[in-house]
Amino acid sequence: MLIDLRSDTLTRPTPGMKDAMFAAPVGDDVFGEDPTVNALEEKIAKLFGMEAAIFCPSGTMTNQIAIRLHTQIQTEVICHKYSHIYLYEGGGIMANSLASVKLLDGNLGKITAVQVAESINPDDVHAPETTLVSLENTMNKGGGSIYTLAEVKPIRDLCQEKGIKLHLDGARLFNALVETGESPADWGEHFDTISICLSKGLGCPVGSALVGSKSDIKRARKVRKAFGGGMRQAGFLAAAGIYALDHQVERLKEDHTRARALGEILRKLPVVSEIFPVATNIVIARLDGITPEEFMKKLSDKNIKSVKFGKDLVRFVTHLDFGDEHLEEFEKRIKNGWL
Ligand SMILES: *Cc1c(COP(=O)(O)O)cnc(C)c1O
Repeated sequence: MLIDLRSDTLTRPTPGMKDAMFAAPVGDDVFGEDPTVNALEEKIAKLFGMEAAIFCPSGTMTNQIAIRLHTQIQTEVICHKYSHIYLYEGGGIMANSLASVKLLDGNLGKITAVQVAESINPDDVHAPETTLVSLENTMNKGGGSIYTLAEVKPIRDLCQEKGIKLHLDGARLFNALVETGESPADWGEHFDTISICLSKGLGCPVGSALVGSKSDIKRARKVRKAFGGGMRQAGFLAAAGIYALDHQVERLKEDHTRARALGEILRKLPVVSEIFPVATNIVIARLDGITPEEFMKKLSDKNIKSVKFGKDLVRFVTHLDFGDEHLEEFEKRIKNGWL
C-alpha cells in the first residue's frame, strides 16, 4: 500500500463527487452560460457574504488575479517571506503585475499589524507605493498554522486607515475554520479579496475561486481571460466544487486528528529534533543527523512519500485518501526496525 503524504492535492474524486460531476448541466462559461459554474460562484459569494466570485483553474491564478487587481506598476505588496504568492507562483508578482514585494519575517509564517505599520512605504519619490497586504491562512510554510480573526482585525484596521487593500490566500482557509469555528462570512468582512482552493483538502480534481466586490470580480474576469483561464463547459469541474462544499468540509477535522497522530509518531524518531506545532493537516519535521534526501529515501523504501521543505525540513500532509488504515500502516512501517 502506497502512503502518499506529499500533498493534499493528490486526492482523487470520491464516487459521490464523480456522480455530481457527470450529472452537471453545462454551457459555455466564457459566455457566462454555464449554469453549474454560475451556481458555484453564487454559492461561494454567499458563503463569504461577499458580492461576487469567479471560478478559476488554480489557486495561483486566483492569487495572481487578486494581485493584479490591487497593484499597478511601481507599487508594492507586503507579505511574509514564506508566502506562497512569493515563493511558489513562478515570480508571478513581477511577471504578471510588475509590482515590487516587501517580505516580512514572523513566527510560523505569520505577520502582525505592528510589522505591517513599520513596513508601509512613505509617500516619497524613492519608494514604490504600498497598495496591498497579503496574508495566508492556513500558512503552508508555517506548518499549517492558523490566523485567528483577532490577529487579522488590527491588520484590517490599519489597511483601511491607510487605504491599502487586503488579500487572503485562503488555499486552506477551510482547514482553519473547522478548527476555530469562525465562519467564512466572518472572514469575508475583513478582506477585499479571498482566494480559496477546492483542489486541496476539499478533494476536487481542479479549481479555485476568488471572492470580492462586484466591480473587482468584473475586472477579474478580464484578467482571467488574459491569463488564459477562461474555460468553456467548466460546469463539470464546478459541480465537484459544489459537492465538496456540501459534503467534504467538516471531514477536514479528521485530517487534522490524523496529522496530530502522525506528528507524535515522527516525534519519537531519534533523527527528528522538532515537530512544528500541528494546527491542521500539515506536519513539518526538523531533522538532525540525517539529510532530508536520506530520510525521504528511507521512507520511500517503505513506500511512504513526503517532500523536502527546507535544508533540514520534511513535510507530510494528510488528506481525503489517507484514512485510519493508512495511519496504522504508517506507524507499523516506521516502528518495524527503522532507526
Ligand atoms: C496550493 C496553494 C496555492 C495555489 O496553488 P495551485 O496549485 O496553483 O492551485 C496557493 N496558496 C497556497 C498557500 C497553497 O498551498
